[in-house]
Amino acid sequence: MKKEVVKLIQSQLNARGLNVGAVDGIAGDKTFKALAKIKEIPTDWPNDRKLIGFVQLLAQENNIDVGSLDGYWGPQTGYAYDALADLLLKEKEPEIWRPEDLPDLNPNNWPKQDPQSELIRFYGNVGENQTRINLPYPHRLSWDKTKTISSFSCHEKVHDSMLKVLTNVLNHYGIDEIKRLRLDLWGGCLNVRQMRGGTKYSMHSWGIAVDYDPDRNPLNWGRDKAAFAQPEYNAWWRFWEEEGWLSLGRTRNFDWMHVQAAKL
Ligand SMILES: [Zn+2]
Repeated sequence: MKKEVVKLIQSQLNARGLNVGAVDGIAGDKTFKALAKIKEIPTDWPNDRKLIGFVQLLAQENNIDVGSLDGYWGPQTGYAYDALADLLLKEKEPEIWRPEDLPDLNPNNWPKQDPQSELIRFYGNVGENQTRINLPYPHRLSWDKTKTISSFSCHEKVHDSMLKVLTNVLNHYGIDEIKRLRLDLWGGCLNVRQMRGGTKYSMHSWGIAVDYDPDRNPLNWGRDKAAFAQPEYNAWWRFWEEEGWLSLGRTRNFDWMHVQAAKL
């Protein structure tokens, strides 16, 4: 089992007052003594299964869809673990994180992301009402940088606004700087999928969210590591924010690759 998983288990056992000592990622006697006090975990399971069972229990307690508590690490437990780690990471962050006072503009009246019934009222059902945006500058696929695209599918209601933002980006930075800053590395827009471990749909499901340069802005990286948190990206974010788009990085300090036409 990965050290980071064991660390999460140990810190959560400590949080329950079941003192396991140092959170070192190595499951030893103290960890298993603590696990023995968790009544949901059968005592006759092998150690690995107990550890996995506790991850599943934590997921259940946090309303993350993990299925049954069986002590086996399948794909669903993997997704649930990722969602759980994200959630616990977010809880450690301040409720609203801002590098400076961000303008809360909303000229296009983007709806809130919750409840999703509001989103559906505004945008329609997931995957519907799509159009293609012809890009003001070519994008490269982040997962295959040899492939260049000149358009992609997005929701028709966000089309004009997104075109305006990307045109501003081109005029401000110019193509050479765009490439240097990797503002042409596209990580995807329309993708009908449920949020990891959850039952709600991702904002990508409506074609109202876009990801850029995911390699240097992974989901769990905060401002200390994410490339898009650097000051040279301030104009990039300003153009989106002027149009009312929301950066999870700028507002919540995670998922810096992502920008969406829905408010929190
Ligand atoms: Zn995204």
